[in-house]
Amino acid sequence: MNVLIVGASRGLGLEFVRQYRAAGARVTATARSEPGLAALGGLGARPLQLDVADAASVSGLAWQIDGERFDVVVLNAGVFGPRADALQAPTQDDFDAVMRTNVLGPMRVLPQVADALAPGARLAIVSSTMGAIGARTSSSGWLYRASKAAVNSVMKDASLALAGRAIVVSLHPGWVRTDMGGADADLDAATSIAGMRTVLAAVQPADSGSFFSHDGRRLAW
Ligand code: NDP
Repeated sequence: MNVLIVGASRGLGLEFVRQYRAAGARVTATARSEPGLAALGGLGARPLQLDVADAASVSGLAWQIDGERFDVVVLNAGVFGPRADALQAPTQDDFDAVMRTNVLGPMRVLPQVADALAPGARLAIVSSTMGAIGARTSSSGWLYRASKAAVNSVMKDASLALAGRAIVVSLHPGWVRTDMGGADADLDAATSIAGMRTVLAAVQPADSGSFFSHDGRRLAW
């Protein structure tokens, strides 16, 4: 199995790398920082330097993975931004940072990886139930929520563009103990990633364009 993890310096991305390597996969993984790249190399992955919020950085990705045929691609990079409630306007800088990373990042990375997909590849965008509109009962982190709602739209359009070539899904990792999730979260990273790997192994072409939880439940928008 040949795997690409985008945004893998720490947290869920690094655990994806650890588990796919432990399962014997060949893994290419990206990080922004030297320590992040070193961590990936230490796990036996091929490290690539990539900042998804930087157009020049992303524009070099396709040639760096030229000739690869990935069976699994996970777009994991994300930031939370301010925890503000609705009616607290984000600053321009906060808005740009969250939307550039969480929405524009995948919109730029997807075209770069499209030609490096094996037939029937599984491509996941790590989203969040915080982006789901239907079941929402809190506005906390409304900028992050807006970004994850938007990236679910991006995922759906990618699933249409890649129909017949790849199975494209959004994944909710659960609330996980990482730098972003914090120490009080429900799940450890190993459990969340094991669940998402199982979901990715099980999805079928008819599932493309859907939103799944780490435990296999299909989620509403
Ligand atoms: P962390 O904050 O622990 O890690 C975030 C990762 O994204 C780091 O590897 C970070 O790299 C990378 N990243 C951030 N910005 C960029 C960028 N511009 N370019 C490349 N990489 C970048 O978060 P988690 O591991 O918890 O989250 C991973 C994903 O899961 C995110 O998309 C998040 O929204 C989602 N998620 C997490 C939940 C949780 O409870 N933890 C719940 C629901 C969704 P660097 O080290 O360089 O900053």
